[in-house]
Amino acid sequence: MPLIVQKYGGTSVAGVERIKNVAGRVARTHKDGNKVVVVLSAMSGETNRLVAFANEASEFPVGREYDMIVSTGEQVTIGLLSLVLKEMGLKARSFAGHQVPIITDSQFGSARIEHIGSEAIMRELASGGIAIVAGFQGVDTDGNITTLGRGGSDTTAVALAAALNADLCEIYTDVEGVYTTDPNICNDARKLAKVSYDEMLEMASLGAKVLQTRSVEFARKYNVPVMVRSSFTDTQGTLVCKEDIEMEKVVVSGVTYNKDEAKISVLRVPDRPGIAARLFKPLTEAGINVDMIVQNISHDAHTDLTFTVSKSEFKRALKLVKETASDIEAKEVVGDPNIAKVSIVGAGMRSHAGVASKMFDVMAAEGINIQMISTSEIKISCVVDVKYTELAVRVLHDAFELGKEEVNEER
Ligand code: ASP
Ligand code: MG
Repeated sequence: MPLIVQKYGGTSVAGVERIKNVAGRVARTHKDGNKVVVVLSAMSGETNRLVAFANEASEFPVGREYDMIVSTGEQVTIGLLSLVLKEMGLKARSFAGHQVPIITDSQFGSARIEHIGSEAIMRELASGGIAIVAGFQGVDTDGNITTLGRGGSDTTAVALAAALNADLCEIYTDVEGVYTTDPNICNDARKLAKVSYDEMLEMASLGAKVLQTRSVEFARKYNVPVMVRSSFTDTQGTLVCKEDIEMEKVVVSGVTYNKDEAKISVLRVPDRPGIAARLFKPLTEAGINVDMIVQNISHDAHTDLTFTVSKSEFKRALKLVKETASDIEAKEVVGDPNIAKVSIVGAGMRSHAGVASKMFDVMAAEGINIQMISTSEIKISCVVDVKYTELAVRVLHDAFELGKEEVNEER
């Protein structure tokens, strides 16, 4: 009997009517002869509401109590779905994270899964039942409730699929799959039939919000096939899977953008060994993630250094960098939150030349100034003024012919 893990996101479970709709799909999958494990998010908006309560109660609501509060939304939805399935005459049982158990480390707010016990769920499935698991939450070895970071239910689902050796992990959401770009920006954006783990990993971390990045890392590591699809239609979704030969033929699969970053430049930094380490150490210690880094060639033993951080950490980062800059006698620190990162992603970039120069040509033709560039084997990112984001996405989507039928039919 095939084992399928189905995860439903917040909009799919927003209210009992929608939960009944989910129950219908779960029941159908079960009747078709599959073992079914369901992972649910909280109702859409619920986790934000809980976070707001925590913020009202405390200036820095972190740690154990924060997770105690924000993990509750998922308990409501799993209980409700189990009730509805029972009303329909099916056998169903809800599981909180600690009842599975999903064991994590003790990094409250962004805990990592260390181990998943499969016995309790396997027992439920063997007796003909459907297991309904709370997404987003786990338990540490001291018995504290932990949460996996916003959007963490995706990771719960993929990790469970890996632990249970599932045949498929379906992620049900409010879009029909992974698109070549944001359909709100390009109306000829097309749904991809297939995308590789590496491509999806880049897309997720570059701002395509359909899957939590960590869930894709899990899927890649344990080779879990993941199908992203809509819970509101029966349309085929996008399969996230291992790269195949067809994928390599497609040079660019998608254009993504991220307006959530800010840029910090440190000007006239003395060019000596150890300076970069000095600059970035306080940021690391403060838990601030640095994304792109560019250092210029030095003139008379001084250089300029520019990097990006997420917008929510911009002010904190700027303050820390200003302190270090005066210690190391850099001339000036300049911050700019009005930037966006626009990227192209594609497995075929590994084997095709000229992709970067085409990207730069296309942007130049529109008079878009590129402020920073970074690349990996399968992506190229450019930082531009935020006001050019939509324009850049559109011209790149056009230039790489992503809207055209032939290109996507191949996938
Ligand atoms: N409910 C959590 C959140 O809103 C987890 C999830 O939905 O994936 O972040
Ligand atoms: Mg989500």
